[in-house]
Amino acid sequence: PSATANQKDKSDRATNEQVLDPRTRIILFKMIGRGLLFEVNGCVSTGKEANVYHAITPDRKHLALKIYKTSILVFKDRDRYVSGEYRFRRGYSRHNPRKMVRVWAEKEMRNLKRLKAAGLRCPEAVEVRENVLVMGFIGDSDGWASPRLKDASIPAAVISDLYAELLIMVRTMFHDCKLVHADLSEYNILYHVEPPAASTTDAVSSTSEPSENTTTDTTAEDQQHTEPHGHLYIIDVSQSVEQDHPHAFDFLRSDLKNVEDFFSKRGVKCLSLRRSFEFVTTPDLSGDASAEDVLQRWIQEDDQDGGVEGEDSGVSNGNDDSVFMQSYIPRTLNEVYDPERDVGALQRGEGEKLIYKDTIGIVARAPADEEEGSAAQAKVRFSE
Ligand code: ADP
Ligand code: MG
Repeated sequence: PSATANQKDKSDRATNEQVLDPRTRIILFKMIGRGLLFEVNGCVSTGKEANVYHAITPDRKHLALKIYKTSILVFKDRDRYVSGEYRFRRGYSRHNPRKMVRVWAEKEMRNLKRLKAAGLRCPEAVEVRENVLVMGFIGDSDGWASPRLKDASIPAAVISDLYAELLIMVRTMFHDCKLVHADLSEYNILYHVEPPAASTTDAVSSTSEPSENTTTDTTAEDQQHTEPHGHLYIIDVSQSVEQDHPHAFDFLRSDLKNVEDFFSKRGVKCLSLRRSFEFVTTPDLSGDASAEDVLQRWIQEDDQDGGVEGEDSGVSNGNDDSVFMQSYIPRTLNEVYDPERDVGALQRGEGEKLIYKDTIGIVARAPADEEEGSAAQAKVRFSE
């Protein structure tokens, strides 16, 4: 009678074991031997580059194991994250998949730690051994993983708070962690509702700035009286890049596009893409006001601006955004200073496309006579 169940179990295990090459299995056995793990259970997710497993510790705590696949093909298209990345100057061997994958796993661990240190919600990094990353499990006490934002059923009253929460997280990640996620979307964010019983230990503060904490906590408390208020947890940060990666701004822009698209589809009043980019990158938003307050004010302002002509909510200016998506955003001084390209743009009357003049405070001038002046100015801004 239990044959089907058994068979299913067996075939599940077979697929699991397929990706666990002997070396990976030895790593897991050692972890069990050392008492880090008690057992490794089923697969939470199978992906192109990694599988995620649920595991428990000897004292019955839940863990997630992200096991990177070691096939060389899988990691080929990761080159665009690696080129130009300072941390990859050494130790990235394109010809040795095991080494390569190990670098990714270590990078994910370091990035998770940076997020945690900045007070952001994300899995707690436990340890990494070659291609195996051990981290805290985001899920319930029975071992069910929390849903991805994409699949979560979110109370209507909460969704616009989550949009604000997420933008502030991206901002904190940018300024405090000096990172751009580079694969941020509703697929790499979990919606996790803290179980009511587990009250004390796992309290995660929302952001590093104290003023913001206060605001967020009040909102969270208010909500708790009505419906359970979940929060967003950022995952999958192995490809996240340093803020000064040559393409950091392009990655950030597409991250924010995903965020804007997701939340505006669900009826949230969003900033435009250009404004959300500004919100994330602007170093000093406005004196004493918390990031949360500034964000709410910007959302209101945009609403008024767009509301005049728009038949739809008028908040997100699609036209403006499509120009912004195509605009070139320089990241480093060398890129800012490509006189040929920038002068060309200015001469064609496309100076507006030089987005950086209003996003990071660098003035785009006709460099013929100003070359040295503006280079010096740019340098000052960047070295701050
Ligand atoms: P990839 O997208 O590269 O396969 P992710 O890090 O996005 O890897 O993880 C894949 C899936 O595994 C996630 O969408 C999520 O459902 C689940 N997952 C990942 N990390 C955790 C975790 N710490 N706790 C619970 N579930 C997780
Ligand atoms: Mg993912």
